[in-house]
Amino acid sequence: MSNITVCARLRPSSSKERKDNGDNVCMRRLDAETFIFKDEKEEDFTFSFDKVFYEESKQAEVYEFLVLPIVRDAVNAINGTFITYGQTGAGKTYSMEGPSILKCDEEKKGILPRVVDGLFEHIKSLNEVENYSIKLSMVEIYMEKVRDLFDLSKDNIQIKESKVQGILLSGATETEMNMASSRSHSVYIFTIQQEFTGDKRMRAGKLVLVDLAGSEKAEKTGAEGRVLEEAKMINKSLSALGNVINALTGGSGRGNHIPYRDSKLTRILQDAIGGNSRTALLCCCSPSPSNASESLSTLRFGGRAK
Ligand code: ADP
Ligand code: MG
Repeated sequence: MSNITVCARLRPSSSKERKDNGDNVCMRRLDAETFIFKDEKEEDFTFSFDKVFYEESKQAEVYEFLVLPIVRDAVNAINGTFITYGQTGAGKTYSMEGPSILKCDEEKKGILPRVVDGLFEHIKSLNEVENYSIKLSMVEIYMEKVRDLFDLSKDNIQIKESKVQGILLSGATETEMNMASSRSHSVYIFTIQQEFTGDKRMRAGKLVLVDLAGSEKAEKTGAEGRVLEEAKMINKSLSALGNVINALTGGSGRGNHIPYRDSKLTRILQDAIGGNSRTALLCCCSPSPSNASESLSTLRFGGRAK
């Protein structure tokens, strides 16, 4: 049994896609756990996940199935991670933030604002907690450099490890609450500390949300120079993430080497992925036939993570 839950989400066609392609889509939902993918040769592939979310799925369904268990665990001092994966335009940021992080319909609110609400709600329901704090750090990993999104002058934050506190980002601003780019990984780290009434015992949990950089292949965009360098770096860190997840689910027993140190991303996630922590992966797919090969590779990434 692994602590990794993997789901895939198909976003609705945009009005332009509907105009260009009509009802033609590269994948459809077969049942609650399965997508059917159709390639150019009209060949079908099925992919099964813990659950699939389709055009009509609500943000609340994604939150409740994939993230609420992690919120509950984080309040119980068990670390966890939620990751959105997929090509640019597939719906990662929509899932994470909603159509706008600043203002949107309650129903469309993404995972991030729901996590904020959920953490407060769960902690407040615990009678035995006297004091608590919830801190949030937001960093961006671009070209293997970690940058503080609350203080852009901190553009090369070092990752440190402490026996007591686990993975630390030295000097990253922590505050009570973007500039998401599709070429960088956005990482939101919540640290929850609680002090119990009576014996004043402390406990701490960590919840990490990751909106990954777009997984599209560089060749497709005909990238050169800096853009090509960015793409190579992204591919490298996404495959490092895939390798860590595969090593965790590979079941080659205890003492199995987990290659956390192969990228900044996996290093930051080290104490919130694997071990007894809980991980959820949402693989976001575009329905457009022109994105078929990217959707297929996203489904395969998710399939390998199981
Ligand atoms: P990504 O972050 O993967 O690059 P976005 O989340 O920005 O992609 O999504 C691309 C576009 O599709 C945006 O306009 C977004 O609002 C829209 N979109 C994505 N997912 C959904 C969804 N489930 N329902 C409605 N619109 C969506
Ligand atoms: Mg995005």
